[in-house]
Amino acid sequence: MTLVLDPRHEAAIRRHGEADYPAEACGLLGGVLEADRKVVVQVVPLVNQRTDAARNRYLIEPESFRRAQEKLDRDGLDVIGVYHSHPDHPPAPSAFDREHAWPWLSYVIVGVGRGRAGEMKSWVLTDDRGSFDGEPITREERKVVWQ
Ligand SMILES: [Zn+2]
Repeated sequence: MTLVLDPRHEAAIRRHGEADYPAEACGLLGGVLEADRKVVVQVVPLVNQRTDAARNRYLIEPESFRRAQEKLDRDGLDVIGVYHSHPDHPPAPSAFDREHAWPWLSYVIVGVGRGRAGEMKSWVLTDDRGSFDGEPITREERKVVWQ
């Protein structure tokens, strides 16, 4: 599988990570499955509900997840991934990320060092849920993009 990301989506995720720095930013990736490609069509920013440890945790409330999912549903899209930022940390999943991850979804993490977005990586949980595998990101411009 490869994750197909429009440069505008990538820019939106980076901007969100910088805007919420030093807290973690998070959101959903809505899209479609095309053969072995997960194609992002819409980026849905969400509010990080963690107030106790917002610097190194993120929490998506079930209610806001459900609302975002309904919205994507209406546009004929599925939740294909979750993105979040790592303030002053590399874009590698933490143990917390692994424990709270769902199978199959793409976990896009962008490192934000001193308020500036840096490296972005995508990860997918392994079948035994014991670790993450890196997932290639293909940058591709789409004609129609919702943000
Ligand atoms: Zn994380």
